[in-house]
Amino acid sequence: MAQNLSLARFWRERIRRYRLLGVECKKCGKRYYPPKAVCPACGSRELVDVELPKTGKLLTYTVIYTVPSGFKEYAPLVVGLIELDDGTKIFSSLTDVDPENVKTGMRVEAVLRRVLEDGETGIIHYALKFRPILKG
Ligand code: ZN
Repeated sequence: MAQNLSLARFWRERIRRYRLLGVECKKCGKRYYPPKAVCPACGSRELVDVELPKTGKLLTYTVIYTVPSGFKEYAPLVVGLIELDDGTKIFSSLTDVDPENVKTGMRVEAVLRRVLEDGETGIIHYALKFRPILKG
């Protein structure tokens, strides 16, 4: 029990402290997530780490009803193109929302979500997803 509690605290801490890290091109100023080694816009290799805002809006999305085995619990899967508040565009899956409630232009925020649990090693994998920001 004590072990469970400390593990829960560990994840809470980790989730609180996680950052959305991308890169910014020093030459043209464009930002990318996930990070790239070469800027697709100007070809520069001078890219520096930058912390991106965790909120933005949904530009467009698609709903995937057929998912690979092992991911059935995530179907239907909503995948969207999100524009962060600094203009950086991220392609990511959405969470905590029914497909019929997803709307283009809705405000979203980045969260960490458990994606896979390895039964043999006990290792839990987390991934960045976006969920709607609830008003009020
Ligand atoms: Zn550039």
